Amino acid sequence: MKVYLSSDIGRQFGLMGLVSLFSMLLLTFLFFTAFTDIYYQLKKEESQDLTTAGLAMTKGFYELSSKGELSEEDAKAIALQALSSSRHIHEGYYWVNDSSGNMVMHPVKPELMQIDLSTVQDVNGLYLFNEFVIAAHAGGGWVDYMWPKPGGDDTAYPKVSYVAYFEPWDWVIGTGIYLDEVAEQKNQLAIQAAKLILAAVLLMVLISVLFAKRSTTVIKDMAIKDPLTGLFSRRYLNESEDSFISRDKRNEDNHLYVIFLDLDHFKFINDNFGHHFGDDVLEAVGKVLHENTRPQDLAVRYGGEEFVILMLAESIEPVLQLTERIRMLVNKLQFAHDINLTISAGVAQRGFEESFPSVLNRADHNLYTAKAEGRDRVVFE
Ligand code: GH3
Ligand code: MG
Ligand code: MG
Repeated sequence: MKVYLSSDIGRQFGLMGLVSLFSMLLLTFLFFTAFTDIYYQLKKEESQDLTTAGLAMTKGFYELSSKGELSEEDAKAIALQALSSSRHIHEGYYWVNDSSGNMVMHPVKPELMQIDLSTVQDVNGLYLFNEFVIAAHAGGGWVDYMWPKPGGDDTAYPKVSYVAYFEPWDWVIGTGIYLDEVAEQKNQLAIQAAKLILAAVLLMVLISVLFAKRSTTVIKDMAIKDPLTGLFSRRYLNESEDSFISRDKRNEDNHLYVIFLDLDHFKFINDNFGHHFGDDVLEAVGKVLHENTRPQDLAVRYGGEEFVILMLAESIEPVLQLTERIRMLVNKLQFAHDINLTISAGVAQRGFEESFPSVLNRADHNLYTAKAEGRDRVVFE
């Protein structure tokens, strides 16, 4: 019973763990899917913010020229200089072209300056400068295209740029992000997040395992222990008898002894001082049994006020000594009501090839004799 119960619970916990692990993985997957979109969107918005800032700066210089503090030529030159020297992270830069597709300023490819790019197509055949003009004239917008990277060869990479239009000077101002770099940044962040999630999952698994172990121990204890005395239950005695018999068989020098104990006139105690007091008495007797048996012995609350001890010993002497000691210690117990608590015991040694019920029965029979002879004694026949 014990084994099946605990393994069954263990399996339930295992299943629970697997389900939560699977849910975590699913959540992680969903998170990363959402994260990819969110990160891409954030980056796009970043390029929009940068273009808007470039536009605002241009406007500032334009206003200075309107007020007459700068000539228009100087204002344009300073604005272009400022845009040309601005770099945002990952070598991001501004460029300016006009509505006809002529390059006004390109800090990375100066050879394009003043060139009409309206007929230039990217590797996918997109007239990108026309697209810039259309998006900018529409109030600003993003354009997806292929373009080489600064400092690299002419290999084109997917890029998305935000373009805005500054009408007074007919400037299309743009800046963009390379999508492969976004993917790389996103992956790095994802790896960091994955490490954290993995650590959290491992911690969770560890906690679950510890919790499951503790719970199975508690539940196992509940199944095999008597709650009042903390001694083993009769069910556990039934489970353990085979192991005691085989230990008896395995070693010729050891014999299995059964001690059957029963409190004397316990009904009287219960009837006169109440059930609660009776329980306190049982608890105290259980403590005596617990403290005076070894871990390899089995002390059991067999029934109401009946106890059984199984032990292996080389001879009857230590068994009788133990039983006598228990009898005396029980007699010495002090209680709230002035009672003289006594206990009777029957002891039996397992005979050759004797079954467990038979030796238990003989111990019970000896207990009966102890009762008949006047109680408060140990009988071994
Ligand atoms: P004897 O000396 O012949 O053993 O007499 P006895 O009164 O001890 O025996 P009997 O079998 O007549 O009574 C046992 C009593 O134990 C009866 C029952 O009320 C009481 N009992 C059984 N289980 C419990 C328990 O868990 N708690 C309490 N308080 N009493 C219990
Ligand atoms: Mg009794
Ligand atoms: Mg009894």
